[in-house]
Amino acid sequence: MVIVGGGIGGLFAANALIAHGLQVSVYEQAPNLGEVGAGVFLTPNSVRQLQRVGLGPAVEKRGARVGTESRYFRHDGTPIAPVQVTDSSGWNATFGMHRADLVEMLAVTLPGEVVHTGHRCSGFEQTGDVARVSFANGAIVEGDIVIAADGIHSELQRFVTPPSRPVFHGSVAYRGVLAHRRIPHWPTDSWLMWLGKGKHFLTFPLRGGELINYVGFVPADQEMKESWSAPGDPDVLRAEFAGWDPRIGSLLSQVEATFRWALYDREPLPTWTQGRLTLLGDAAHPMLPHLGQGANQSIEDGMALATILAHANRNTSPAALLAYERLRRERVAQVQRGARENGLRYDSANSDLGVRDAEITAHAAFRRRLYDHDVVPEAKAAATALI
Ligand code: FAD
Repeated sequence: MVIVGGGIGGLFAANALIAHGLQVSVYEQAPNLGEVGAGVFLTPNSVRQLQRVGLGPAVEKRGARVGTESRYFRHDGTPIAPVQVTDSSGWNATFGMHRADLVEMLAVTLPGEVVHTGHRCSGFEQTGDVARVSFANGAIVEGDIVIAADGIHSELQRFVTPPSRPVFHGSVAYRGVLAHRRIPHWPTDSWLMWLGKGKHFLTFPLRGGELINYVGFVPADQEMKESWSAPGDPDVLRAEFAGWDPRIGSLLSQVEATFRWALYDREPLPTWTQGRLTLLGDAAHPMLPHLGQGANQSIEDGMALATILAHANRNTSPAALLAYERLRRERVAQVQRGARENGLRYDSANSDLGVRDAEITAHAAFRRRLYDHDVVPEAKAAATALI
């Protein structure tokens, strides 16, 4: 099996497929894995799957658990409500993790010959029972199936369906990471979010609390490239949150460099699969970040796919890919819609702040349902139906 893209979705899928006894190769365009990025958020629905491939202890060691002191605040620091950090059983498996740490954690467990860096996919074709991927460096590889985990600007998506048009969301996120020693008063065990008109500000800890990840979401009327590495101006960021809770000002006074990331929204794709090619992670379902589910949903995808493919052979693989798509599409569309709605709440689109605060409080029930989800039992049922 061939996976294109060695990000979070591709590397987790490789771990899950190998855990199910399948053979896999991963092809990543970058010369090295995972050097770029800031914090990602892991929630119980994906940590459950990381545990299944033996990565539970590594998440505990390399992430930073966020606890019950996590809070939503009004922009001036008035508390609104606690943040839901557990599933319904009370299990707290909610972690902040540096993307580079997560990528490395997913890569080190793979056998040495699995990941091939420096391979930028540029073409795809399938004939009979063979799927073929070509790369800009001239290499061509074949497999019984190809999993496109090549992210938000997926090259392979066009071989499945016409791309869904990215719609500028009218906001940008300034994001970065500060060493905790620069802001020693900052809590190392809490996810904290401040909500104001058209803007919100978020922090959570990474790497056992050594680092604090911050993101400031602000309106923007000018479209810009959807990039994880475009530089932003720290003074502009400070000005955006001037007059908010003084704690934000004290954190931002320490920021020397920041990244600017334009937010785009997309409608769910009509299909993810074409014969022996299927999409996974952001290539299948890019979403706004307002539920922190991009990485988590890509991990759920990988476990669902591996569970189903473990019951397939070369002949039945295309049917298995369709079963994976059927299983995942409605769940992920719900999360995509939920992220869109939550963004409106976070940016206080409702001018009645009492209503906004009540919605934020009630939102805990949605998060509990999201976190309770275990993709494996339903994937097993879908696999059994194939046999
Ligand atoms: P990704 O994790 O984006 O992985 C896609 C991978 O495919 C990348 O490694 C990319 O280099 C590779 N790729 C793309 N095109 C090709 C090609 N043609 N051939 C071969 N390989 C290709 N999320 C956050 O919440 N916070 C962050 O700070 C953050 N930083 C990020 C930094 C970068 C550089 C990237 C690529 C993504 C970042 N994300 C971040 C997004 C987050 O990782 C994803 O939304 C989520 O994890 C879904 O994972 P994915 O595997 O689908 O996509």
